[in-house]
Amino acid sequence: MRCPYCHADNDSVVDTRAAEDGYVIRRKRKCGKCDKRFITLERLQEGTIRVVKRDQTRQPLDREKIRRGIERACSKRPISSQQIEQLVQEIESEIYAIYLLEVATEQIGEIVMRHLAKTDDVAYIRFASVYREFGSVSDFINVIEPLKPKPN
Ligand SMILES: [Zn+2]
Repeated sequence: MRCPYCHADNDSVVDTRAAEDGYVIRRKRKCGKCDKRFITLERLQEGTIRVVKRDQTRQPLDREKIRRGIERACSKRPISSQQIEQLVQEIESEIYAIYLLEVATEQIGEIVMRHLAKTDDVAYIRFASVYREFGSVSDFINVIEPLKPKPN
């Protein structure tokens, strides 16, 4: 890595640590010429993971698509844009934590449903009804099952 101060390409890493729950690696470097320190961040390249669609075609993971699905489900619900952004962030991090190269649309759908179920019942049911394409009452019951209050 070239030094941002003197532009020499002669650095050494003095410290390495994980940030953002381990999805980012932060390295403290020292320039061997001018002795100044600087920091570099290493993160997964966007689009590293590909989504396998139902017809077996593949496309890069698109966080905007995840966001649009969540926004549709949360429309007219008391959920702020900040909460939606937070959800997208958590879902994206979870996908990157579990999958390395490919993830199926169904698996993304399950992760999104799990997060929505914790956030808002109505948004969760809306998302699930579009996503699971309810064909029967029992499909619906399976989806509302996780919403039942748990005994303490
Ligand atoms: Zn330097």
